Amino acid sequence: MKITFFSAKPYDQQFFLKANQQYGFEINFLEAHLNSKTAVLAKDYDVACVFVNDAVTAEVLQVLVQQGVQLLALRCAGFNNVDLKAAAALGIKVVRVPAYSPYSVAEHTLALILTLNRKTHRAYNRVKEGNFSLNGLMGFDLHGKTVGLIGLGKIGQITAHILKGFGCHVLGYDIAEPAETQSIGLEFTSLDNLYQRSDIISLHCPLTPATHHLINAESIAKMKKGVMLINTSRGGLIDTQAVIDALKHEHISYLGLDVYEEESDLFFEDLSNKVIQDDVFMRLLSFNNVLITGHQAFLTSNALQNIADITLENILAFKNNNPLANEVTCF
Ligand code: NAD
Repeated sequence: MKITFFSAKPYDQQFFLKANQQYGFEINFLEAHLNSKTAVLAKDYDVACVFVNDAVTAEVLQVLVQQGVQLLALRCAGFNNVDLKAAAALGIKVVRVPAYSPYSVAEHTLALILTLNRKTHRAYNRVKEGNFSLNGLMGFDLHGKTVGLIGLGKIGQITAHILKGFGCHVLGYDIAEPAETQSIGLEFTSLDNLYQRSDIISLHCPLTPATHHLINAESIAKMKKGVMLINTSRGGLIDTQAVIDALKHEHISYLGLDVYEEESDLFFEDLSNKVIQDDVFMRLLSFNNVLITGHQAFLTSNALQNIADITLENILAFKNNNPLANEVTCF
């Protein structure tokens, strides 16, 4: 099996080369994103391995198939960037890594909550400059606060466990109530109730047509004034302009993002010497109560190891004509 990687970073190379010692696949790493122009670089490869911001459209899939690609291996959990209907029509299989370390994302969620609350990012800079003033650094006790989680899958449930450890009252909403609700000690409720009662709201559902812009002017209006909103899931869950308006009116008092709806033009690259053209993103950066990380919630050594192992296992199953446990099909 010959595999070509798109959007490959040094950490991908490090973990995949090590994991591949067991498999012996022929591997090629490309820094380029996958798009309709770069898809030809997959010529004579059996597998194209892609990440979250590779736009795998019908046009791109068509070019990949023409190059001989038979399998699209996502080295991530989300698959909103793939046209699954087109993949099925073209006979190209799609596999993913459904769970590599839900702890990595849940723990990053807490990092955003704690940093926004206790302003450790600002304190760090102040102390570095010999400024020991505490003005503007006041936080609140997380203990006793009500936190609403939208999406109670693997990451949502682990986030709930951690928050229970802090002494929070945890509310949860999902399209179906998970069996674990009671054992975790979270209160399953309606979306409207969650919006109305939560001091902190954190998003852990996938991006689908049903969840696109779930957080918009209407849903924000139902939230408590002063709410903290956290998104480590997918950028498209939030109507960014509506959130900016709510920040300006101080309806939202804290915003923590690891994902952004237009992130594919920004994230994972060093743009520190470029002029960033995205005015909406730059407006977000101008608020001192907004904390943004560049889609790094997954980035732990444990997660990268699991991503490499499971991706190569998916490819081996395809090579051996075995059932594809992690296949993604259109539903
Ligand atoms: P999961 O599939 O285990 O859980 C998702 C949950 O969302 C499910 O329980 C599902 O029923 C629920 N859901 C689906 N539609 C919903 C809706 N309309 N309203 C409410 N809930 C709904 O997935 P997971 O592993 O917990 O991951 C959650 C999301 O986190 C992924 O979809 C992905 O977008 C994101 N993610 C982000 C990173 C990162 O680095 N920032 C890494 C991995 C995953």
